[in-house]
Amino acid sequence: MMKAKNLTIERTENPKPKPAEKDLIFGHNTTDHMLTIEWHKDIGWKEPRIGPIRDLQISPVAKVFHYSLETFEGMKAYKGTDGRIRLFRPQLNMERMNKSAQSLGLPGFSGDQFLECLKELLKTDMDWVPESKNASLYIRPTMIGTDPTLGVKTSKSALLYIILCPVGAYFTTGVLNPIALWADTEFIRAWPGGLGWAKVGGNYGPTVAPLNRAEKHGCQQVLWLYGKEHSVTEIGTMNIFMYWINENGEKELRTPPLNGLILPGITRLSLLDIARQWDGIKVVEEDFTMKDVVQASKEDRLLEIFGAGTACVVSPVDKILYKDHEILLPTASEGQSIAERLYRQIIDIQYGIIDSDWSIPV
Ligand SMILES: *Cc1c(COP(=O)(O)O)cnc(C)c1O
Repeated sequence: MMKAKNLTIERTENPKPKPAEKDLIFGHNTTDHMLTIEWHKDIGWKEPRIGPIRDLQISPVAKVFHYSLETFEGMKAYKGTDGRIRLFRPQLNMERMNKSAQSLGLPGFSGDQFLECLKELLKTDMDWVPESKNASLYIRPTMIGTDPTLGVKTSKSALLYIILCPVGAYFTTGVLNPIALWADTEFIRAWPGGLGWAKVGGNYGPTVAPLNRAEKHGCQQVLWLYGKEHSVTEIGTMNIFMYWINENGEKELRTPPLNGLILPGITRLSLLDIARQWDGIKVVEEDFTMKDVVQASKEDRLLEIFGAGTACVVSPVDKILYKDHEILLPTASEGQSIAERLYRQIIDIQYGIIDSDWSIPV
């Protein structure tokens, strides 16, 4: 059993200079420390350690390098105007990571104990959590199979670690900058019986070439489709929401259901919970196809499409390229969009401006 009380902390003697907030590029900077916990089949989880961030020493034979025995999480710590650091629904990340690990035969762990270790890491690198309401500290828990043997089999050893990256404002101008999508009709991100629902490294490598294709067409992200009907599943590494006037003339916020093809995003869940409290909007978890999108667009019933994920909270879409269609979305110049209302509400919870039991002080 993993035990947070056995945690040891070795502080760095060479703290790095902290980059200015405006120079922060997502994933380009790390803090001074990392957490590591080793596991071996015969002895279980070893004592957790916080130490100076360093390169890992792993056998080139290790299973992670050959069979993608890797799972990760993405979460953030936010410093509120009261100076307190908070996490957002972190227990959900712990549960999701355990499920992802299980799907690869990697070991399970106590979410509570791991969360305690994470909090200690955040206290150790407290000064790295940006002060601004636009910036935050991105948290990347990772587990890899380190067993130094070839052969597609269960890894007898694993390493669980956490690195931290200060990240700047996703939307630098304060307004939500829209993105264009390339609806990919060739590559399939996830399928029934597959691991589309899990945050495992093996799902993401194969999306790089399709993303390059999207960029060639002037788009920032791929719109992932599935099946003959071209059901809409996700945007890049974000869940998708469509706000439209449905066939019955109702204003509806729709996202595909968790049918195994969809990554169960914590932002997705939270946006659904928030929108369900609002009057005048129907909120449904139901599939929709590109035919629905094209038709609604033609009939002026397509109001908004946006991505949802930890990195940006929401990411509005202003254009979709799909076969020979160019679908343009009205950007909400008239009044506040649903995407923006959701964004404001969730940010206020994350930074402790609205009190909520979703926000966990460190
Ligand atoms: C991480 C991820 C999301 C968003 O999940 P959050 O918990 O909201 O950050 C959505 N789709 C994919 C494919 C992802 O990897």
